[in-house]
Amino acid sequence: MAPIIPSAHLADVRYEIRGALTRRARELESAGHDIIKLNIGNPGRYGFEAPAHLREAIASHLHESDAYGHEQGLEAAREAIAAQQRGRGARHVQPERIFIGNGVSELIDLALRALLQPGDEVLLPSPDYPLWSAATILNGGQPRYYRCPASRGHLPDPDELEALVTPRTRALVLINPNNPTGAVYPRELLQRLAEVAARHGLLLLADEIYDEILYDGARFQPLAEIAGELPCLSFGGLSKVHRACGYRVGWMSLSGAPAGTAVYRDALQLLAALRLCANVTAQWAVLPALQDAPTIDALTAPGGRLHEAREAVLRGVAASEHLELVAPAGALYAFPAVRAERIPQFDDESFALRLLEEESVLVVPGSSFNVPRSRHFRLTLLPPPAQLREVFVRIERVLQRMARE
Ligand code: PLP
Repeated sequence: MAPIIPSAHLADVRYEIRGALTRRARELESAGHDIIKLNIGNPGRYGFEAPAHLREAIASHLHESDAYGHEQGLEAAREAIAAQQRGRGARHVQPERIFIGNGVSELIDLALRALLQPGDEVLLPSPDYPLWSAATILNGGQPRYYRCPASRGHLPDPDELEALVTPRTRALVLINPNNPTGAVYPRELLQRLAEVAARHGLLLLADEIYDEILYDGARFQPLAEIAGELPCLSFGGLSKVHRACGYRVGWMSLSGAPAGTAVYRDALQLLAALRLCANVTAQWAVLPALQDAPTIDALTAPGGRLHEAREAVLRGVAASEHLELVAPAGALYAFPAVRAERIPQFDDESFALRLLEEESVLVVPGSSFNVPRSRHFRLTLLPPPAQLREVFVRIERVLQRMARE
């Protein structure tokens, strides 16, 4: 029988965060190796737990979770999300403009599927969270990357970004706080980016899933407030801030003048209805998650586990003669780079493979985030600080070997 050939749309789709290196790590584990996995921002894998009252809310509503729910999500949960968004300055946000999905992942796909015609272009950051590129391509669109280099603190240049706009450009994606770089975008920059969107009639897509994970006094500015009457879809969820990745609950909130987005809103509702509804059981956690005081601050403040993990990474980089890093201001990752003058021939993919094979540490090469010829790699801040200290000893050993070759 002829082999089954997958869709040609997949030719340019990659997701190396769970790619070939992860498969190799699993093989090594089956062979008895102890691998330190720093590739995924999955709090539950590193001893973090969702707040107890979220679990209790789910447990106490289990008997109400048997039936399909509203295609856009439970009414009480959407009310709470709409109130949160209005409290952040988002305009015209009502429960009918909120969509709950099985994680932000599902909603990224849904938002782009409802938007794109074949050949339409989407402005994406480089580095990006690769699902944004994949969902653009799978829905017939073309990624157009605006650069966020370390030399600029991983921030975009609005003029450079605007020069990429063509008559086919439909949307501008911002990931803030950023995965993989940890950059947190200042208000003035967001203002200028919103002006670009206004000049060219672009939909703003704001992936704000790390909105409350901030270090060292960094401040998060919601894009929807600045966007005002402009069409803006803001994404948030339970996975990171509430340490509940496994619940698979995310949301998106459509703000801006209703007249300009009514048809698009209906398209989103149709696509939401086609997949019936998001997991009903886990949606019961949304209301308590948003109503009660945030629990993440205790982890990101001095003495908290994420704060101390970030300190361990900063110290590990400072002690290295090969590494440099723009200190992450938010999110769950660090994105160090190997200094060109130290290892001119550095290749991120062979480095990551050697780190895994020789030192049993799994990181993600920078080029997996749609950066050509990257000198970076990404690691998560989720492991205990002591383990991160050990990781930097191992990283340095590999870099020293590479420098001598
Ligand atoms: N957006 C960004 C920037 C992410 O880093 C992630 C997960 O790591 C997601 C979206 C997907 O999150 P969810 O668990 O809600 O699907």
